[in-house]
Amino acid sequence: MEESSAKVARGLSCPACRKDVEPDDAFCNNCGYPRKGSEQERRVFLLKRKTKNKKLDAANKGIRQATNTLFIVGGLNILFSWGVYAWGLAGRYQGDRPRLISDQILGVIFVALGFWYIKRPLAAILAGASWYLLLQIFYLITSPGAFLSIIVYRLFVMGYLIVGLRSVIKADRLKKELNT
Ligand SMILES: [Zn+2]
Repeated sequence: MEESSAKVARGLSCPACRKDVEPDDAFCNNCGYPRKGSEQERRVFLLKRKTKNKKLDAANKGIRQATNTLFIVGGLNILFSWGVYAWGLAGRYQGDRPRLISDQILGVIFVALGFWYIKRPLAAILAGASWYLLLQIFYLITSPGAFLSIIVYRLFVMGYLIVGLRSVIKADRLKKELNT
């Protein structure tokens, strides 16, 4: 296997995407790099591609944060509901088994959505955000006091999920444009 930069130097690989090219091609078949274009055209193409790669990195970061948010919300739900239940058992208030079970299920759903993301990013984050929003409306109606007590946390979670959703769509478009 030849070193990829050596192949680029000899005109066997595309300088933009590093895929193999035929010596006579005017454009790279993979990314459209203007191999026979003027120096200006080639430089502009490489710059644009670099910018797109940076945007893709940013989008991937947004997606990672949204996925982590699903895991954190799920994990906190599971841990916190056990804590509240144990506190109830210790006699400080009535231990509430149905509430424990429903909170555990909620937590597991969020963790499962986090894992589902690996297979279907858009569907998983979309489902996570809608599911979270529905739960918030339910909490707001049934216990507004408890809802408002951690409103900042709720807003952060919703914010990360919305950014994640937009990032998945952006990353998809950029990957198509970059042909990677
Ligand atoms: Zn190329």
